[in-house]
Amino acid sequence: MDYPLDIDLDWFNELSEYPLLIAGPCSAESEEQMLRTAEYLVETKKVSVFRAGLWKPRTRPGSFEGVGAKGLPWLKKVKQETGIKIMTELARADHLDSILEAGVDMIWIGARTTTNPFAIEEIASRLKEVDIPVFVKNPLHPDMGLWLGALERINKAGVRKLAAIHRGFYPFEKSDLRHIPKWEIPIDLMIRCPGLPLVCDPSHIAGLKDIVPGIAQRAMDLHMDGLMIEVHPEPEVALSDAQQQLNFESYTTLLDNLVLRSNTFKQGEIQDLLTQYRNQIDSVDAQIFELLAQRMDLVDKIGGYKRDHKVAILQLERWTEVLRTRTAMAVQLGIGDKFIKKILDLIHQESIRIQSKH
Ligand code: PEP
Ligand code: MN
Repeated sequence: MDYPLDIDLDWFNELSEYPLLIAGPCSAESEEQMLRTAEYLVETKKVSVFRAGLWKPRTRPGSFEGVGAKGLPWLKKVKQETGIKIMTELARADHLDSILEAGVDMIWIGARTTTNPFAIEEIASRLKEVDIPVFVKNPLHPDMGLWLGALERINKAGVRKLAAIHRGFYPFEKSDLRHIPKWEIPIDLMIRCPGLPLVCDPSHIAGLKDIVPGIAQRAMDLHMDGLMIEVHPEPEVALSDAQQQLNFESYTTLLDNLVLRSNTFKQGEIQDLLTQYRNQIDSVDAQIFELLAQRMDLVDKIGGYKRDHKVAILQLERWTEVLRTRTAMAVQLGIGDKFIKKILDLIHQESIRIQSKH
């Protein structure tokens, strides 16, 4: 049984109409860049919260690691000059004081932080003393326990203004996307934490600007409560995530074209469970097909190799081994052996057909 989250929804409902729109650059780079972006966004009236990362968690040293505390006055100025609410990533507990001092309205916890229960614990214990809404991004790898655990730890520390952000998961397989959405996981979160606001970050899922709108639409089709989108005045020269940030025009176009299926759907209501499960199945099926396509791609490569080395296509010994190990794997996962045998036979037939083309 999950720990039932004790959440306040009023703050979220007061924040905006549906959907909540959070936008702004991946990283704060200069005061001018921040103000230009915020002024544009506010003018569109299609934004409720301005985002900008100050301390950037980069995978390897040497890349731009953010302007740090230097960007806080810029963020503050954005709020003063445009009236928009401001938001940044809280990466370390000891950044909290300066963030609050600058008047930051809400924070998000980054994917790398959610991955680490020690860091979450430290942040949660600091959050006990303050009242600020916290958005928790999913961890890098598809582990529901870590995501729920971070939400629970922060909630147990007394933070009731809580929300989640779905930003996709690290792709272990080849993918056109920077991070795999695995929609079944955020849907599972909706089922397990009814009412918890859930925002999608299509920018970090897509990784490429042209793919962002499709992901944003999918999130809306699943009735997620909002979007967090990276926007930069000149994405080509952005110091981080240059390929995925939208320029001003693309941001407006995305929102103009966004189809909201039901504007009567209010955050806090839950879709019927059947639809939720069906949406999860859609996502899992898509992943099964992507993996099957990858398998066939490898089969095709092997076909070329066998031709070049004059090796027979059918290697009975290998196939017997595949059947034996895969059946054992499947049975362990609760899949019937007769069923898996049928699937494996079909896959094998198709593999032979593909290799025979060489
Ligand atoms: C970000 O929002 O800029 C960011 C670093 O996100 P994530 O933690 O999801 O990678
Ligand atoms: Mn980013």
